[in-house]
Amino acid sequence: MSAFRSGLVALLGRPNVGKSTLANALARSRVAAVSPRPQTTRRRITAVVHGDGWQAVLLDLPGFQKPADALTARMQATVDRNLEDCDAALLVLNAAEEIGGGDRFIAERLRHAGLPVIVVLNKVDGLDRDAVARAIVRASELVDFAALHPVSALRGDGVDALREDLPQLLGEGPRYFPEGAASDQTEEELAAEMIREAALARLRQEVPHALAVDVQEIEPAREGVVVRAVLVVETESQKGIVVGRGGSMIRAIGGSAREAIGHVWGTAVHLDLVVKVRRRWREDESMLERLGL
Ligand code: GDP
Ligand code: MG
Repeated sequence: MSAFRSGLVALLGRPNVGKSTLANALARSRVAAVSPRPQTTRRRITAVVHGDGWQAVLLDLPGFQKPADALTARMQATVDRNLEDCDAALLVLNAAEEIGGGDRFIAERLRHAGLPVIVVLNKVDGLDRDAVARAIVRASELVDFAALHPVSALRGDGVDALREDLPQLLGEGPRYFPEGAASDQTEEELAAEMIREAALARLRQEVPHALAVDVQEIEPAREGVVVRAVLVVETESQKGIVVGRGGSMIRAIGGSAREAIGHVWGTAVHLDLVVKVRRRWREDESMLERLGL
């Protein structure tokens, strides 16, 4: 069995090229608009794309929301900082339009970051072969890419082929989210998923479905954020296993969860984890409601 592959993939492109539509199509699920609450974190997860033995976390990076003439040096610095710990990028272009200043700005930052790039030529529906060929030439002149895919995110054409190319961008890495995790989740829910995943990676045998994670609070700290969470189990003996001898297990879980969350969010994370027993929590409606189950 080969190792699990994962990574952070920046989803880039000027406004309106179809990034959100593409994220939907790739994730095969509805990716609802992210809640308008203030983000505590620097980055926003647009979608989690699950494959066989791999997982790509698509990120929406701030810094591309302005028209080309407003792309300042300051914005460039923001973009560079945000690209820093991404593993790869999907650059979405509108195949029906000429390359613009916004596309060139992004291409330049990608070159600077040195990330592997897959170009997605979107909106090919309604274009004839010659027009698509011309768009491919324009894209080739814009940026060096590992692969290029003409797609219609709206109709789904070409999206499966694109998805199959994603794992080649990824290195060995953890499974950040359980299968089925999407993206229209709150930061609390996403953090809970990552903590649960980190716990189950170590406890898969002992505490299978009895473990729930309830993130109570995410608070900005002087550096990064503090995440306070309760790990809920059903019996004292499960609690003993999750805590471990002298707290060794919960520390280990906390260590890998902290790393995973920090990597995905691009923020220093302090984790405050508590383990509690709640007998038969799975039959408790209000608990299930809280956990969004
Ligand atoms: P974003 O700003 O890059 O996230 O772009 P959106 O995903 O919001 O899409 C912008 C507009 O382009 C919407 O009206 C979409 O329906 C439309 N759109 C997205 N993908 C396609 C496509 O493949 N073909 C066509 N014809 N329209 C598309
Ligand atoms: Mg969008």
